[in-house]
Amino acid sequence: MNQNANPPAASLFNVETIRRDFPILQREVHGKPLIWLDSAATAQKPQAVIDRVARYYEHENSNIHRGTHTLATGADAAYEGARAKVAAFLGAASPQEIVFVRGTTEGLNLLAAIFGETLLRPGDEILLTEAEHHANIVPWQFAAKKTGAVIRVAPVDDNGDILLEEYARLLGPRTRVVSITHISNVLGTVMPIREMTALAKRHGATVVIDGAQGVPHRRVNVREIGCDFYVFSGHKLFAPTGIGAVYGRMEKWEQLPPWQGGGNMVDKVMFENTSFAQPPKRFEAGTPAVASAVGLGAAIDYLNGIGLDAIERYETELVAYALEGLGSVGGLRLIGMPKDRGGVISFVIEGIPDLEVASALDAEGIAVRAGTHCAQPILRRFGLESSVRPSFAFYNTKAEAGALIETLHSIGARR
Ligand code: PLP
Repeated sequence: MNQNANPPAASLFNVETIRRDFPILQREVHGKPLIWLDSAATAQKPQAVIDRVARYYEHENSNIHRGTHTLATGADAAYEGARAKVAAFLGAASPQEIVFVRGTTEGLNLLAAIFGETLLRPGDEILLTEAEHHANIVPWQFAAKKTGAVIRVAPVDDNGDILLEEYARLLGPRTRVVSITHISNVLGTVMPIREMTALAKRHGATVVIDGAQGVPHRRVNVREIGCDFYVFSGHKLFAPTGIGAVYGRMEKWEQLPPWQGGGNMVDKVMFENTSFAQPPKRFEAGTPAVASAVGLGAAIDYLNGIGLDAIERYETELVAYALEGLGSVGGLRLIGMPKDRGGVISFVIEGIPDLEVASALDAEGIAVRAGTHCAQPILRRFGLESSVRPSFAFYNTKAEAGALIETLHSIGARR
């Protein structure tokens, strides 16, 4: 066997060098070095992204798509350049398949609103999984209410893995839309989205993937997955807030009407009627978050410099290390043990409220999320209303995971 084919994860990149790229990781909280284990909520930003956004405002700021002067055409090129980077990052066929939105929530609302106008009829079925974020539940409830469509939910097992046979059984001739998370933000489950998409496609369903937790942890190729739409948020991908993207296959976009009206999304406007621009402009009414889009392009360049495959290998080893240590904490119950896991671990400690655990960790400079994680149904599936959720990224270290475990040991000892 070629020894170099599978080098130890620690040799993939120098995590200490990487950490120096993230200025916020140098700060202290309560006199302790910050340990950021909340990247599933939002990821920290490398200097390259911060600098790119600053440079945009210092030298390039202009509105786009409407000016002919030098700054307008420059801003246009920067914005469209970011679109091309997102397209390449997702393996899309062309930049025109990428619609910029504010984030995953807005992207899913866009699709649910448009499908509510065009695709869904009374009795049609929208299939979700039990592990969805509220952003991939509530917009579909709006669409169902408006159209008379029905929501079906595919269950997970006690490990948090999708029950594929149940999922397949729920698919049928009435399934019009399947909308599923790539990686659960509560359990960390990496869903078998290729297989799930292929099964849905046998029934002609339109497949949407919520990639909010997917893109930061796995290399994505939308054409290999075979999905119709893939949605993500920039801020979880080391980019600024206020920007996200919806990939859609061009033949799908071409069939869809706009969802918001205004400038930029039109061809000809008359008081009697209006014709609309081609995608993606048709879906981008008004002035977009240009600087944030440019920052997203810089984040993608930064990630490509490290490599998503290296990131996945490094994080898999780090999360396995953390899981092993957490297992030794008295009274700690891990929620779900999926076969394939992204950057997230959820747990509760018997006898200590989750918020108390989180504030005791915060006192040591360790930031984790405690609460419902905007995904109440999946917590309820495990008999819970909330959990504690450390989430990892490639800038975290085994020493940080060790500090988490050590602090939890001392919190557990107070029970
Ligand atoms: N979907 C998943 C799986 C998420 O984890 C999140 C955010 O936590 C969202 C959707 C919503 O993302 P945003 O708040 O960036 O729109």
